[in-house]
Amino acid sequence: MIIVMKENATDEQKERVKKRLTELGFDIHQSTGVLKTIFGAVGQVTGWLVEEMQALEGIDQAFRVSDPFKLAGRSFHPDPTVIRVGKAEVGGNRVVVMAGPCSVEDREGMRRIARSAAAGGATVLRGGAFKPRSSPYAFQGLGKEGLEILAAVAAESGLATVSEVMDTRDVDLVCRYVDVLQIGARNMQNTPLLKEVGRTAKPVLLKRGLSATIEEWIMAAEYVMSEGNYQVMMCERGIRTYETSTRNTLDISAIPIVHEKTHLPVVADPSHAVGRRDKVIVMARAAVAAGADALLVEIHHNPEVAVSDGPQTLFLEQFAQMMAEIRPVARAIGRDA
Ligand code: PEP
Ligand code: MN
Repeated sequence: MIIVMKENATDEQKERVKKRLTELGFDIHQSTGVLKTIFGAVGQVTGWLVEEMQALEGIDQAFRVSDPFKLAGRSFHPDPTVIRVGKAEVGGNRVVVMAGPCSVEDREGMRRIARSAAAGGATVLRGGAFKPRSSPYAFQGLGKEGLEILAAVAAESGLATVSEVMDTRDVDLVCRYVDVLQIGARNMQNTPLLKEVGRTAKPVLLKRGLSATIEEWIMAAEYVMSEGNYQVMMCERGIRTYETSTRNTLDISAIPIVHEKTHLPVVADPSHAVGRRDKVIVMARAAVAAGADALLVEIHHNPEVAVSDGPQTLFLEQFAQMMAEIRPVARAIGRDA
């Protein structure tokens, strides 16, 4: 059930509503907008309850929601969510760029990458320390040491950080080092992990599963939000299709569809979508044109020897070129980059 408070509702009236819902055993979620406060009450709703609520002082409307996305959907939170990450605001007018290597490898290399990322206009440094590799014999990431390097190098260049967490047991550790917790495509339906990051105060970048429908992906966001963390960014990173000329297929239409179905910001990852560096820039332009609020892109000072995802990783000069090419596209749709 959604309860929309009147614009001039007092704090006492809001408290009374919350108290009544708690007595009835509901889970209460609050969205405080510029003008109105909205409560989402999750639990068993009966017809008389809607009427009882409508009669309470300070309530503008109370209605049942058939929307399966109680918290991610627009009825609970009509305005787009803006998530602050360091200096950046994901979901604001400016298209935010998150760039860095697939894996954190060493401090000196990371420094070079971070400097170029910052110089080009990125505000968030990416780098995996826990890597979900297809083979158990491939490089698995530097773990804690990788997180230390990422955090230290990002701070030197004034960048915020994003890194993947794969295991519930590592959530506290990763939280100590990074600004944004990444949930990888392979873990999109790992519900214990989704709930665990939902109990933190860190923004979550939720990648779309390799073969997940948009509804399944939004339901995964719902898991995070149901634990109280509403700071979820939806990352389209390409899906499995029958096409083999690219690693995955970037589902460009997912960007406006997620914007329509939810209030959450959308991030596009052209690197994992196409899997080949010669097509990353053009897909970055396309994602911005389709309304992506941010880009997540892999860059490296020497991608040919990168320990993971080298073939899809941009050279640093190509990153500068990508930034130059997305700016006019952003401006054409009334945004900055
Ligand atoms: C990554 O960002 O390096 C990564 C492993 O991404 P995905 O989970 O989308 O495959
Ligand atoms: Mn990668």
